Amino acid sequence: MNKRSDIVDLMKKFKEIQMKQKAYGYVLTVVGWDSNTEAPRGAFARRAEMLGMISGELFNLTTSKEYQEVVNGLFEKLDELDDISQREIKKAKKDLAKIVNIPKDEFIEYNKLINLSQKVWEDAKENNNFEAFKPNLEKIVEFTKKFTAYYNDVDHPYDILLDGFEDGMSMKEYDNFFNTLKKDLVPFVKEVLNSGKVLNDAFITDYYPIDKQKKMADYLIDVLAFNRDNGLMKESVHPFTWNTHSTDVRFTTRYLENFMFSSIFAAIHELGHATYEQQIDPKWDNTNLNGGTSMGIHESQSRFYENTIGRSFEFWKTHYYKLQEIYPVELKDVSLDDFYRGVNKVEASFVRVEADELTYSMHIMIRYEIERMIFSGDIEVKDLPRIWNEKMVEYLGIKPKDDSDGVLQDVHWSVGMFGYFPTYALGSAYSAQFYYAMKKEINVEKLVEDNKISVINEWLKKKIHHYGGSKTPKELLIEVTGEEFNPKYYVKFLKEKYSKLYL
Ligand SMILES: [Zn+2]
Repeated sequence: MNKRSDIVDLMKKFKEIQMKQKAYGYVLTVVGWDSNTEAPRGAFARRAEMLGMISGELFNLTTSKEYQEVVNGLFEKLDELDDISQREIKKAKKDLAKIVNIPKDEFIEYNKLINLSQKVWEDAKENNNFEAFKPNLEKIVEFTKKFTAYYNDVDHPYDILLDGFEDGMSMKEYDNFFNTLKKDLVPFVKEVLNSGKVLNDAFITDYYPIDKQKKMADYLIDVLAFNRDNGLMKESVHPFTWNTHSTDVRFTTRYLENFMFSSIFAAIHELGHATYEQQIDPKWDNTNLNGGTSMGIHESQSRFYENTIGRSFEFWKTHYYKLQEIYPVELKDVSLDDFYRGVNKVEASFVRVEADELTYSMHIMIRYEIERMIFSGDIEVKDLPRIWNEKMVEYLGIKPKDDSDGVLQDVHWSVGMFGYFPTYALGSAYSAQFYYAMKKEINVEKLVEDNKISVINEWLKKKIHHYGGSKTPKELLIEVTGEEFNPKYYVKFLKEKYSKLYL
């Protein structure tokens, strides 16, 4: 057998195994959607058992000796592969490295711990009892440190975790990002919070019947030109987006009687994620370069739709009439200007998921600094509540009244997701950098006002979406904006917008 046909055979085998992985993944995804939306509560035990079997099969396939041989064999001959195949194999190799070096018994033990810890965290949060969660969190941190050491013993453990959620990002880049925010944004946030500006905002927490909220959400997804042939919207407690490939992309929103904004902006946010997935070229479907390229880029799209479009004056100038039509009594005395200011209200608050666009990244900065200290060995888990509260005071000027609204508020650490939080702030910052590049080519505000969102969707498709995972976040930024990630755009965007509103 000659060399060339050797590679062809390996590639063929790689594709075969990959298609099987995709089929298992497809089933798990569709059932997962059902679990999170329609499935009755009583169905969960049996479902967990069945899904456990399928996940097990997928795990066996992904860690099988055969698959490892194929990936390693191709990785050794990387130079002889075409560009796309090179990217595929590099990605497969990286994904593999994350699991194959971990001894199986430790992997199983860790997964058991994670499954138990989520419930322990839920109870601890409900009872405001950090001590009850502490032993689990300590074990999760220990495991995470151990696993990163198996994966690679050269890098700092936190660098490995950060790169796991955002390809190519490390403490060096994030330090630069958050230091810029500390220097340029924190003083501005304080200025806004202390501006003493009083808003006519009582309408925000009025009662808005849910059937009417549904009407508005439905109207908005058409305004944003969502492709209903290839997707749909439902309802869930925690909004999310779910997809198998570009022609089946689903998302949810949630309806709260006394907070109409939640359904509007959750719908627009998730629609941003969904539009990204819908506009990916189907040619990537049978590769591992399908789907959005990273957490950060994904979040840049959802936040672009939610904040840059959805919270702009131009957007509501055009669509506020519709909301008033739906709520003729409730919004009778609320002017367009009041409404616009209401959707952009800035407030120092304890809970990240309820934070406004301006203070949001402060919440992320706190989490980043804490994770960085944990994995540098500077602090221990027992120190977390104290450090958390100190940082809240430092950046937002408020101290949580208890740990439920403080260090216990997020699910992420209980499921071992360290290094994930920074991508939320990064996404907002990417979004601003993309926005200024977009403005050079199309008149974003005018298009929003003229209700021509499909032109914006098309621009995003051509510049970002259609590539799927075939370009890294760094490559995309350079291609679309002509420079590397630069947090100055984010600061500029926020200062321009909120100076007008508050100062
Ligand atoms: Zn999101």
